[in-house]
Amino acid sequence: MQRQSVVSLGTESKLTVKNPLADKTKAEVIRLAVELGVPLELTWSCYLNRELHCGRCESCRNRKRAFEEAGVKDPTIYAKSEPKPST
Ligand SMILES: [Zn+2]
Repeated sequence: MQRQSVVSLGTESKLTVKNPLADKTKAEVIRLAVELGVPLELTWSCYLNRELHCGRCESCRNRKRAFEEAGVKDPTIYAKSEPKPST
């Protein structure tokens, strides 16, 4: 069953789910965001709920890699010496 059908059944509404970025890589999303003037420094990727991105979890590593692949300077402030996440 497609996601849209599940949502419709669950809510009994005409709610529509759109995910225009689903077929793009993270690097492509970053390039598009830069083109649109998105304040990327305000976006969040880290799995941990802290003041700063940990810079070490899988999501932070993917974020760093995507900025590198996009050729865009990463505006993210990463924590300097956070303990390694348990996940
Ligand atoms: Zn992280």
